[in-house]
Amino acid sequence: MSKRQIITIDGPSAAGKGSLARQLALFLNFSILDSGALYRSYAFFYNKDLCQDEIKNEIKDLIFIPEEDDTKILHKNIDITGSIRNEKIAKVASELSALSETRKSLIDIQRNFMLNKNLIADGRDMGTVVFPEADLKIFLDASPEIRAKRRYLELQNRDQEVNMRDLIEDIEARDLLDKTRALSPLVPADDSIIVDSSSMSLDEVLSFTKKLIKKEFNI
Ligand code: C5P
Repeated sequence: MSKRQIITIDGPSAAGKGSLARQLALFLNFSILDSGALYRSYAFFYNKDLCQDEIKNEIKDLIFIPEEDDTKILHKNIDITGSIRNEKIAKVASELSALSETRKSLIDIQRNFMLNKNLIADGRDMGTVVFPEADLKIFLDASPEIRAKRRYLELQNRDQEVNMRDLIEDIEARDLLDKTRALSPLVPADDSIIVDSSSMSLDEVLSFTKKLIKKEFNI
């Protein structure tokens, strides 16, 4: 069997990684690994007082379904997307993700995810730690204000109450934690292509990325 192809998309919160990963997965018919959703689900089960082995077992049962306007997160056929995509869970996920026991328990799950299938993986350390062998690595960035605006609209679409000032503070606090932690800090891989999407629409980022993919994969 030929080696599977892997594209990684790393970057800070609300840079648009999820939307880009979803559109590319649909375009290329690749599977999708939303590693942020794994860390969020870890926090979700942690809040239910499960021990680490139990959390790991629950996480193995997650399935990601990319759809036009969202990636659905199913756990044992129950849609938990709304339960994990909120700022409270994001905060707990960010705190737990700095601990080595959390990262250790998720690394193999990520590496073995949809084994033998071509994969788009998005997160913070996909290109640096989890899939250093990836064929194409993108680091997607945007200014904190633009990212807060995007997250604001996303949460509003999910009918969640949000306050813009709190959101900017939360995003900046999480970015700082993600960038300065000792384990798998948020940094671009040396061989990644950095895309600043502050003044680009999703369509512009998408068409730029498709060009990179066509060149890399000869399609
Ligand atoms: O991407 P998302 O906002 O869903 O990620 C939630 C949190 O999970 C991040 O703030 C980060 O702390 C953590 N995370 C991580 N490594 C990843 C993906 C997410 O530490 N690969």
